[in-house]
Amino acid sequence: MVAGNWKMNGTRESANRLVADILAGLPAAIPLDVVVCPPVILISRVADLLDDAAAVHWGGQTVDTHRNGAYTGETSAEMLRDHGCRYVIVGHSERRTLYGETDDVIAEKFAVAVETGITPILCIGEQLAERDTGTTEAVIGRQIDAVLARVGIDGFNGAVVAYEPVWAIGSGRTATPDQAQHVHRFVREKLAARAAAVAEGLRIIYGGSVTKDNAAGLFAQPDIDGGLIGGASLRADDFLAICQAAHSHRSQGAGRDAS
Ligand code: PEP
Repeated sequence: MVAGNWKMNGTRESANRLVADILAGLPAAIPLDVVVCPPVILISRVADLLDDAAAVHWGGQTVDTHRNGAYTGETSAEMLRDHGCRYVIVGHSERRTLYGETDDVIAEKFAVAVETGITPILCIGEQLAERDTGTTEAVIGRQIDAVLARVGIDGFNGAVVAYEPVWAIGSGRTATPDQAQHVHRFVREKLAARAAAVAEGLRIIYGGSVTKDNAAGLFAQPDIDGGLIGGASLRADDFLAICQAAHSHRSQGAGRDAS
């Protein structure tokens, strides 16, 4: 699976071009889940450019915990679903740090997505100081436990977890394949202790300065099932090369994608 997080970038014009270039470069029958997550104001346009038969799905970058009502500026899961979103990112580190979203709020967003039939992409990851002090697993464990407490292990059935070390996001500093694999394995084993089948089928993707040059090394790891791509998802050639790297890895028989 390869998901592009456009963050707060793009215009109707640039979205047209980016989607057209991605579609033109992606084989229609590619057995890989490819997702783009535009800013909410562009979702409707992207939905018009793509359709359910297309090789590319689309999703939201965040969602509100409420179903509807007096929550000015927010977007509900029902609204995302109404616009054809199959996925929604929850718990991106920018939401956690810039907008103060707590583990409990993120767990609620995860639950709302699942209840609405949208696949959550749950972002987890440690700050640099936490890695340096050896608390990475404790932080990741806490972030996952909050979601488990809300939805139970069954809530992870079919979901996606994105390991995104905060120090690697937008920094040009990628986790090494070994560092990422270690955390991905930790996540899978933690969930396997609750339900082996759910953990084995779980897609755990890596995000944090993934480029066309480092993608293949990351995706070759046994527990890395693709990538959540920020900056490079805004350049069609780079995004397509990353999709190709994920596809090649799947062709070797190790992928966990739904398609
Ligand atoms: C992200 O925003 O989720 C991300 C991984 O960004 P980048 O690829 O630019 O580090």
